[in-house]
Order: sequence, then C-alpha cells, then structure tokens
Amino acid sequence: MKTLSKRILGSVAIVLFAGLIVTLRAKDVPPAGAPANAPAARHADPHDAPKVSAESALKRLVDGNERYISAKAERPNQNSDRRVEVAKGQHPFAIVLACADSRVSPEVVLDQGLGDLFVVRLAGNVVSDEAIASIEYAAAHLGSSLVVVLGHQKCGAVKATMDVVLKGEHPHGNIAFLVDAIRPAVVRAKGLPGDLLDNAIKVNALLMVDEIKRTPRCAR
Ligand SMILES: [Zn+2]
Repeated sequence: MKTLSKRILGSVAIVLFAGLIVTLRAKDVPPAGAPANAPAARHADPHDAPKVSAESALKRLVDGNERYISAKAERPNQNSDRRVEVAKGQHPFAIVLACADSRVSPEVVLDQGLGDLFVVRLAGNVVSDEAIASIEYAAAHLGSSLVVVLGHQKCGAVKATMDVVLKGEHPHGNIAFLVDAIRPAVVRAKGLPGDLLDNAIKVNALLMVDEIKRTPRCAR
C-alpha cells in the first residue's frame, strides 16, 4: 500500500508500507559467486547509468511487490549472467531504506535481483548519519533516482518503542538509540484513529522521509 509520494533528489521519494509476508507487500567488490577472473567492480559514473525515471523505478517496485504478494515472483536478475554483468559496475535504479527485520528483505518482497537496489537497513528503518551518507553515495555516484523508505507491519522496533512510551519500559543498552529515533512517531500516532502500531509504523516511515529531505544534499 503506497502511503506517500514526496519529491526528493530531484525525483520522487516514496514510502511504501509493506504488509508482512503474506500481505506484503554494492562498490569495489564483485558480488559473491562472481567468477574469479571477472573484471573488478567500479564505481559507476552516474552519467553512464541507464536512465530510469523515479516514476518508472517506483512502478518496477510496486509491480515486483504485487508479484510477491500474489506468489508470482519472477526473481529477476539472479542468474550467473547477471553476476558477471554487475561485477563490471552497478547502476541500482532505486535506493531503499528498510528495516533490518529478517522477514522483509527488500530484494525478496519487491521481487528484484542483483544490482537492482541499493539497500540500507537499520531496525525500524531509522535514519542515521551513516544511512544518510549511504543514500547520498548512491544518489551521487550510482545514478539512482528514487529513494524509498520501506516500513512494514508488525515492526518490532516500533512495537518496542510503543512499550517504552506507553508502558514506561526501559530499553536495554544501545536499543535506546532506536527508541529515541522512533519515539516521535509513536507520540504523533497516539492521536490518530485506528490501530496504534500500524499508525506508528506509517508515521515513522513518513518522518524518516522528512529526515532525509532535511539533508541539504538530498533535498532540492
Ligand atoms: Zn521492523
């Protein structure tokens, strides 16, 4: 379910809200499994990159997600020919900031393959300085035209933050950093009708889009 479309990187930044499982909805080193004599991967010149508009990129992602949902995944670009191709350079058509949850791997739930997506993953799909730097790299050097923040149902990081905010639980160790990042979404979602966790997940993804847009090199 698409919940927001925003302009970013001179293109469209999208938040997809991915349902979990049933309802769901690279650099200098050659990919694992590439032949030993394959040419060394290189940083791609964005001017050499295939021109995939943000709108086309989004359609590819939505179409792939629909294939996944309907158990018609094609698992494109995952054969040995593709490994050799991307060893020469990468031109991912989209950047995806996703949760680290093991059940929502972007290449799987969006039915894409090697070299298609530049994926940054942190629990709760939160934005950190390192995440922003990674997004900037892909936008500036790899020719990616679309940034997607991918939230998902039953997100444990958001649920844990809810428990802190609503029940006064204390996060352990460095989990507090995640809670601090997600807390504003939970607070905002408290006033919305409907399921609090679902709302907090959506609001969290939208706030992360706003966070990315506030980065000078990303926003236009
Ligand atoms: Zn999650």
